Amino acid sequence: MLPQRVPIPPSFYAEDTEAPFETCLACDRSLLEDDTQYVIEKGYHSFAAYDVQETVFGYALCLDCHTTLSQSFSSESKRRCTAYLDKHVDLPQRTAALLDRDALDPTRWTEHCIVHDTPKQELEEYQILAHCQGDDLLLTHLPLMIGGTAVDDLVQRLSNETLDELGGFRDEYFGLPPELKSNPQGPVLA
Ligand SMILES: [Zn+2]
Repeated sequence: MLPQRVPIPPSFYAEDTEAPFETCLACDRSLLEDDTQYVIEKGYHSFAAYDVQETVFGYALCLDCHTTLSQSFSSESKRRCTAYLDKHVDLPQRTAALLDRDALDPTRWTEHCIVHDTPKQELEEYQILAHCQGDDLLLTHLPLMIGGTAVDDLVQRLSNETLDELGGFRDEYFGLPPELKSNPQGPVLA
């Protein structure tokens, strides 16, 4: 069955253009022409007292580059992350329920942490992920949101080897300031 499609919501737009991501972070391939599929990951920091959310990082990776990166993860890392997620969430069941209820409103898919069910408003840090093709967001096990605590739990399950791979990816493409470097970014979930 082909996944349902909806327009990409602004929460998944690129920060600098306030429009959908146009190129793959790693290979620079155009994402909006042809039928290239890609994954978007964005990290947010929220300042609850001010009701303000700030994008910490955001990128799109074409599926080829995404596959290359996830293949660099050690099998131990993958096994542990999958076990952690399986313990907390039944993704196929979640997708079925959301398709039933909120198929046309993808923002509803990212309102609660998939692991702890914490509402977005109560999270200081969170990441959102989406699977897209052209201008469309595909409704699969994505889009989803995961809170900072759960991201930390996942990161703790990564082997040193995988952390090095992710660190290399991050240094190559983000050049983040040192204070953010303790928090490795990269597709852990998609
Ligand atoms: Zn690419």
